[in-house]
Amino acid sequence: MAEENQNLRTPIVCVMGHVDHGKTTLLDQIRGTAIVKGEAGAITQHIGATEVPIDVIVEKCGDKRLADKFIVPGLLFIDTPGHHAFTTLRSRGGSLADLAVVVVDINEGFKPQTIESLNILKRFKTPFIVVTNKIDRILGWKVHEGESFLSTYNKQTPEVQGLFEQKFYDVIGHLYEQGFSADRFDRVTDFQKTLGVIPISGLTGEGIPDVLMILLGLAQRFLESSLQYDINGPGVGTVLEVKDEKGLGTTIDVILYDGTLKKGDTVVIGRLGEPIVTKVRALLKPRELSEIRYESKFQPIQEVAAAAGVKISAPDIDDALAGAPIISATPETLDAVIEKVKSEIDDVQIQTDTD
Ligand code: GDP
Repeated sequence: MAEENQNLRTPIVCVMGHVDHGKTTLLDQIRGTAIVKGEAGAITQHIGATEVPIDVIVEKCGDKRLADKFIVPGLLFIDTPGHHAFTTLRSRGGSLADLAVVVVDINEGFKPQTIESLNILKRFKTPFIVVTNKIDRILGWKVHEGESFLSTYNKQTPEVQGLFEQKFYDVIGHLYEQGFSADRFDRVTDFQKTLGVIPISGLTGEGIPDVLMILLGLAQRFLESSLQYDINGPGVGTVLEVKDEKGLGTTIDVILYDGTLKKGDTVVIGRLGEPIVTKVRALLKPRELSEIRYESKFQPIQEVAAAAGVKISAPDIDDALAGAPIISATPETLDAVIEKVKSEIDDVQIQTDTD
């Protein structure tokens, strides 16, 4: 098991859904999960993303034997929610996200952006789950913070369970109308045929262990080949954002999804026209909260391996494009890499025009 582990990178997860249905709250809850754990090495706050390591997930789910079942190192959640982020952030023509979560407010049901999210996921063929959020707002619901859905559900009165079922099956019905065969996650036997739906509260953490667990399961079952990567290969990533940072000048926030990027590497970055060719001056990760005595929010590192979020400081990156590829190159590969980045930018533009 351990050996296989070395070749699979962390799957990248994007959270989508209608405005106000609870995407940000869910991400905050997941960040909290990772942070409350609090043990050295357990938490990894990335630039633009949050990593929930496998041991944290396994512990949340309360069964340590599960650790042997999974061969991905954890889950990397992109901090920017929304389907705009999903469609802008590409990798090799597809979406940067390996997996997605569509958030639906159980009390409001389907909205235009819910349907849009589902259509985008269909188009990209991205494995995903739906979460019906805000179960704590169902009349009479008794909150059991951070518990799995079934655990909290079984402690509700029959009346509350009845109310829940009504709302929940409304959502299942809407999914059916959109062409999805869907069911509550614990009743799904084949996630390739049936979409798993997890009732949660982003606010109270109920159902969050199930979300993490099911995502891991999906990664394991459907993504093994796309999560293979070459840790010694060139760093390959997508630009999340171009940002001015005090004392650093222009920086780019990047999600690296293949290989390793090192300080001093030559990198090719997409922009309109000819790609940028520059050298990584600094690789930066967020400083731990305990280190606020430092002036800078960032800590320099020598290298970073996929999948990870990292800030890059480099000369001449002002007109790098969000969503564009970044790939490291050697003198031997430079010309080919420039061509590759250029053709990916052309592709993205064509696809964006037709979105
Ligand atoms: P987003 O626009 O999808 O990112 O939605 P937000 O996460 O900003 O949530 C919108 C509002 O719903 C905020 O006031 C949240 O506090 C609230 N909210 C989100 N999730 C829950 C939940 O599970 N339970 C309750 N009661 N409120 C929630």
